Amino acid sequence: MATASRYPFSTETAVLHAGFRRDPTTKAVAVPIYQNTAYELDGDLNHIANVYNVKADGFTYTRIINPTTRALERRYAAVDMGNDSLAVASGQAATFLAIVNLSSGEVGDNVVASPYLYGNTWNLLHNTLRRLGISVRTADPRLPETFERAIDDRTICLFGEMISNPRLIPLPVKQLAEIGRRHGVPLVVDNTTTPLVCRPSALGAAITTYSATKYICGHGTTLGGLIVDNGAFDYGESSRFPLFNNPDDAHGGIIWRNALQDIDDLAQSEFLLKARMTWLRDTGAAIAPFASFQLIQGLETLHLRMKQHCANAKVVASVLNEHPKVRRVFYPGLFEGADRETIDQTLNAEYGHGAMVMFEVENEQAGRKFIQNVDLMYHVSNVGDARTLVTHPVSTTHTTVPREKREAAGIFGGSIRLCVGIEDVNDIIKDLDKALSAI
Ligand SMILES: *Cc1c(COP(=O)(O)O)cnc(C)c1O
Repeated sequence: MATASRYPFSTETAVLHAGFRRDPTTKAVAVPIYQNTAYELDGDLNHIANVYNVKADGFTYTRIINPTTRALERRYAAVDMGNDSLAVASGQAATFLAIVNLSSGEVGDNVVASPYLYGNTWNLLHNTLRRLGISVRTADPRLPETFERAIDDRTICLFGEMISNPRLIPLPVKQLAEIGRRHGVPLVVDNTTTPLVCRPSALGAAITTYSATKYICGHGTTLGGLIVDNGAFDYGESSRFPLFNNPDDAHGGIIWRNALQDIDDLAQSEFLLKARMTWLRDTGAAIAPFASFQLIQGLETLHLRMKQHCANAKVVASVLNEHPKVRRVFYPGLFEGADRETIDQTLNAEYGHGAMVMFEVENEQAGRKFIQNVDLMYHVSNVGDARTLVTHPVSTTHTTVPREKREAAGIFGGSIRLCVGIEDVNDIIKDLDKALSAI
């Protein structure tokens, strides 16, 4: 556990200033793109050896560390109230590295996870990680005690998405973090759909992952992933986390828990130091410096965009809620009961309730007609673009999922998912109205 001092300014200042003041050689103010792979190993050979052995800070090779990427990592850690962050090639790489970094290295570890997951993440857990000897146990985020009951001495983490896509089931982060703490198990949260709107780090999640491809980039141009460590979890239980507590052959017999004392910059997180120096190094899931630069550009306006995304979604949800052609609307701002409580505990009211809205029209036929009649909105299956996106899950993302299974997950023929953009909200409503009139 490292205890770094928190960034002294507010989040809306951190997006523009944290982690980088000026380029040390040219004094350039915008973060330059260091489009290089290697760094000259000049000077004292003992010092160079120390950099390679993580006994001194320094740059070695861009697959492991790069100044442009490091500026993004430092900045995002401050924005997300973490001790440090690690940038990787994509959101999938972030989830994969976050989980395998906790593994014991022996077959038989398990992850206790919500079933409401992004499709590729579901597959990563249920097929790919299982084939590597890490099994998954499913628990219900609406019944936090089911997570507790599933934990055993080989559980390496609890996992869920802050607001699941497309059915918008909220994760009770505070309760799950508390259950995890009681059992020595870290909570890992994928917060892709609600950056700034939710701060899992501050609510007790040990690790937060992001597909930075979505809102952080914000413009649908660049793939990237981020892993944030909140610095508060103790990986000292050596039977559960042997690779944190015993000599690690993957890095010259280093003991990661003791590795922070000789370095400064990278010493903020033993979790991320280990992930960087073993899993990132060996899998090569590195982000390109140009992609890091693009994500920094996006990050500098993330606060403005998220506020506008949330404000537009609120208006859209209330219009749909009153519309005669709409049967049901799912939007966190309209939740009641236990889901409402979870939302109020986890989301930052200054921003709102995220930008995803699900609604249902009469049947599959009506859903198809709706999609075929949108003009302004884009019919695509991703999320987190500045433009409004619309999906008919039954004819796209869920077309191969058997009917009973998708209906159990709350996806019906008439379900439509909206990812509300930052256009003039009146134009979004006009387009919705036109497409709804056509059914
Ligand atoms: C898109 C997405 C991912 C995967 O991110 P990539 O950057 O496409 O690899 C993971 N989780 C969620 C919730 C997503 O929306």
